Amino acid sequence: MAQYDYDLFVIGAGSGGVRAARMAATLGKRVAVAEDRYLGGTCVNVGCVPKKLFVYGAHYAEDFHDAAAYGWQLEQAPTFNWAKLRDNKNKEIERLNGVYSGLLENAGAQLVNGTARLIDGHTVEVNGRHYQAENILIATGGWPFVPEIPGAEHVITSNEVFSLEQFPEKVIVVGGGYIAVEFAGIFNGLGVETDLIYRRDLFLRGFDKDIREFVRDEVSKKGVKLNFNTDIERVEKLEDGRLQAHLSNGATMVADTILYATGRQPKTADLGLDQVGVATDKAGAVIVNEHFQTSVPSIYALGDVVGRIQLTPVALAEGMALVKYLYQGDKKVLDYSVIPTAVFCQPNIGTVGLSEEEARIRGFDIDIYRSSFRPLKHTLTGSGERCLMKMIVDKETDRVLGVHMVGAEAGEIMQGIAVAIKAGATKAIFDQTIGIHPTSAEEFVTLREPAT
Ligand code: FAD
Ligand code: NDP
Repeated sequence: MAQYDYDLFVIGAGSGGVRAARMAATLGKRVAVAEDRYLGGTCVNVGCVPKKLFVYGAHYAEDFHDAAAYGWQLEQAPTFNWAKLRDNKNKEIERLNGVYSGLLENAGAQLVNGTARLIDGHTVEVNGRHYQAENILIATGGWPFVPEIPGAEHVITSNEVFSLEQFPEKVIVVGGGYIAVEFAGIFNGLGVETDLIYRRDLFLRGFDKDIREFVRDEVSKKGVKLNFNTDIERVEKLEDGRLQAHLSNGATMVADTILYATGRQPKTADLGLDQVGVATDKAGAVIVNEHFQTSVPSIYALGDVVGRIQLTPVALAEGMALVKYLYQGDKKVLDYSVIPTAVFCQPNIGTVGLSEEEARIRGFDIDIYRSSFRPLKHTLTGSGERCLMKMIVDKETDRVLGVHMVGAEAGEIMQGIAVAIKAGATKAIFDQTIGIHPTSAEEFVTLREPAT
């Protein structure tokens, strides 16, 4: 082992890479991490964290409005200052970059600034220097994908949306996944005229259909214009600098900014994968076995670059599982079942386990419990926002297979529910649990009659 400079050389200081590097270094391993962009990766810099800050920012519009019903009166109508939000967000991200740097340093991992490239199974090159390691970890994450349409050079992606110089008056968001739905809500909340364009008939494919339909209605009520079953065929820059989108349904739309949120691809360009013999799949994701080992035995990969589930907690769990496997003799395979997730649209979606459609496809005989109501807070505000809760139960075993919610703080609520589902909770256990009153979440323990 002494013939190598390091025990582990990690490429990419994002969620997965930093977690693996820190854990390995804490165990006394000699670790280096190469990073060419920003410490903390996508989540910290252009993902989860700034996105959630923007979601908070966007919600104030409703909060100001709702406050009036509770007796609060503002002397002046509130105004929004984009530069303030953006710059405050930047300060927080810079602070987090420093935290990440400190975490690596304190753990004893060496940070190498620059773009890393594989030379062979044990060698990485950064800035012309070769680093030798017993094992190499590819944790390079993903990159936004934009379809090749004429005028694509005029559109932006999630990489740019967090640092816009000019705040738009009108935005088109393209896509029907997490980022599109979240950013449609952010822009709309911040007072931007927002159109969402999605190529099929209902966005959020893969989520429970009731949830998708409910979110469609809630998001429309809040003012986002939804354009389903159409797509942008080309984008033209007008003389005044605005962008004109030509749609497949024959319509045109003009906006200041067009945000493409049409998925992400594994970031592997110029990494030297072919040269070293690391196999990838059709989508470009690095192929790994159950212990994150690639086709080159000394090279491992995890996180978004392996194209499994693109979520920060999953990358973190993979990083920890790898270090335990490599250095602590733990051969347990990471369990990808029952991963909770939230979409931070307004109101949020929180979900864990099977959708009704998935449960039926898998052959379960199921009971569906459903409750839709106006949250207590809005009995005074007059807001039309509603909340939906849905539970899918296996009739044979009484096990709760899936829980889904649309409503304020659904992400926060679903984390606790996920523990119960992971523990194998039955519907009877939910029924035996005393509620917390008055909350929305108590509905989950008082769902009495199956809906179907
Ligand atoms: P990353 O965090 O992307 O880190 C990869 C790092 O590798 C980057 O810093 C990159 O610069 C570096 N790198 C790449 N190539 C090289 C190279 N050759 N040399 C050196 N360095 C290199 N997930 C959630 O769970 N919740 C959310 O709310 C959420 N919101 C999101 C919002 C947006 C807009 C986006 C885009 C993503 C969001 N995600 C969210 C997903 C989450 O950010 C990713 O799943 C997570 O960051 C993946 O971690 P990773 O370690 O695989 O990659
Ligand atoms: P998603 O995969 O979630 O959604 C991509 C969307 O783009 C889909 O609606 C897809 O349509 C559409 N699309 C794909 N290709 C094209 C095309 N050529 N033309 C038009 N539309 C297209 O990706 P996102 O970019 O929204 O986010 C990437 C990932 O990041 C997410 O999957 C998620 O894992 C993670 N993320 C997590 C968040 C969270 O946890 N809250 C927040 C943001 C991101 P179709 O349905 O037809 O395939």
